Amino acid sequence: MSSLELEHFLTDNLNELKSKGLYNTIDPLQGANDFMITIAGKRLINLSSNNYLGLATDPRLIHSAVEATKIYGVGAGAVRTINGTLELHEQLEEKLAEFKKTEAAIAYQSGFNCNMAAISAVMDKNDAILSDELNHASIIEGCRLSKAAIIRYNHSDMTDLRNKAIAAKQSGLYKKIMVITDGVFSMDGDIAKLPEIVLIAEELDLITYVDDAHGSGVLGKGAGTVKHFGLSERIDFQIGTLSKAIGVVGGYVAGKRNLIDWLKARSKPFLFSTALPPAALSPCITAIDIIRNTPELIDRLWKNGRYLKKGLQELGFNTGNSETPITPCIIGDERQTQLFSKRLYEEGVYAKAVVFPTVPRGTGRIRNMPTAGHSEASLDQALNAYSRIGEELNLI
Ligand code: PMP
Repeated sequence: MSSLELEHFLTDNLNELKSKGLYNTIDPLQGANDFMITIAGKRLINLSSNNYLGLATDPRLIHSAVEATKIYGVGAGAVRTINGTLELHEQLEEKLAEFKKTEAAIAYQSGFNCNMAAISAVMDKNDAILSDELNHASIIEGCRLSKAAIIRYNHSDMTDLRNKAIAAKQSGLYKKIMVITDGVFSMDGDIAKLPEIVLIAEELDLITYVDDAHGSGVLGKGAGTVKHFGLSERIDFQIGTLSKAIGVVGGYVAGKRNLIDWLKARSKPFLFSTALPPAALSPCITAIDIIRNTPELIDRLWKNGRYLKKGLQELGFNTGNSETPITPCIIGDERQTQLFSKRLYEEGVYAKAVVFPTVPRGTGRIRNMPTAGHSEASLDQALNAYSRIGEELNLI
């Protein structure tokens, strides 16, 4: 394809996305991603961040980042296995293992590359992965990269999972079989049925893998969905991100010592991509201490989540199956969803539309992310905007 042909290909495809309302615009923030934000000079109530506990702007984390930068500089300087491992990396990994009640942990540069790294370091073309159909994109990419057979099961359907696991095992085609699920599903806010998944896995000898990006800092006193169900000893891979409740950036795997040693020896981003910088590591350590010592933070998050969800339901909106503070408001049609989000913006509320391909076609939604930092008054203001726009668009 020539450069000119490439140009036409890109223009045609971009125009098609835009005409279908599937192209996300990007609005840079002027200032921090807090519960109030400023975009193009406009102050808005922020209902779109993953900053669950408000730690992204916490002065104690900022202090940690500044102090670590003064001591260690701004960059780790190399990949982990050359000489990019600072003592801070090891301190953070020990802290994560202690928090998750596992023997060890390994940190990566993001939650996304953590899934790519961990799945492909353990699974290969002789294996099969049973994956919930609503698993996060980074899990899907990790599965593809591994070259294992990918067997999707219906969302949280334990009969389907068990039947497909039995069929995979009986086929005799695979050496290892893994079951992978999000702990909390990021677009719907429902919780994986981990106790049942563990029973199926133990019955059929499956490796278990839980991506708890949205459960960590939220469930199980902050330690996550696995702890919430008391399953810390029975899940092989516990994945987390440092970018949501922890408020910084990065990802990690917590598990048995051997697993972590294997990932350190074999996972590509650990071996070939520069390590997390000091200004990320130190505030993560501070954040974990804060989460453990301040249960009121998580209580506030849940209180705000319940308040917003109840308010939306009372207005007549569909909030789906959420069991956590993630509060979808399902509109359906993609263009209508984009229009709703645009109107919210005009009314001073930043709540982003989530449409296909992030969620299935026809299930477009406004994904509301209340945090511990929101005041009840700000949530009331958001609910008033929902009420006005819902009536204006004949949705309630
Ligand atoms: N897993 C899940 C379930 C997620 O929601 C996300 C974040 N969008 C990730 C992984 C990726 O995490 P990060 O943003 O830290 O790369």
